[in-house]
Amino acid sequence: MSVRPILLLGDPRLRLKGRPVESFGRSLHGLLDDLTHTMRDAPGVGLAAPQLGEALNACVIEVDGQLHELVNPEIVKATGDDRDLEGCLSIPGYAAYVTRRERVWVVAQNRLGRRIKVAGSGLLGRALQHELDHLQGKLYIDYLDSLDELLPTGHGDDEDEDDATDGASNEVRTPALA
Ligand code: ZN
Repeated sequence: MSVRPILLLGDPRLRLKGRPVESFGRSLHGLLDDLTHTMRDAPGVGLAAPQLGEALNACVIEVDGQLHELVNPEIVKATGDDRDLEGCLSIPGYAAYVTRRERVWVVAQNRLGRRIKVAGSGLLGRALQHELDHLQGKLYIDYLDSLDELLPTGHGDDEDEDDATDGASNEVRTPALA
């Protein structure tokens, strides 16, 4: 298991569609382990194989201490709309408000190839949609009318300043990244 570099916006490999996973052996398990390790190191709530330069249909999501390894995932049902701040580990330093479905139901396979289902709303629902988009070569900025909608985020190493500092800042709190 190792922490691997996360591809950044501008790398054409982020735009490749993930190929369906057909083999559930050691190389898939190594990839899933690397995804989890890299996601936790970032830290983030999700990471998709294309973000590590592997055009495969696999991603991991960790919300509320629950790790989901999703292979060949598909959204089978979605309800409602939800607008919230969203960020991406491949686009560090920025976030934007994106309208997503409020609740989604996903069917996928686990690392052994067994069929699993995950349903989620809130952060989990958003992370599911964000990661499944990565598997289609899609990024959240594709939903924006203009890149002017991107908001700079804090960088986490300014904890001693907190929000007691005077003077309004355009920076938003770092949202969950995936
Ligand atoms: Zn992302």
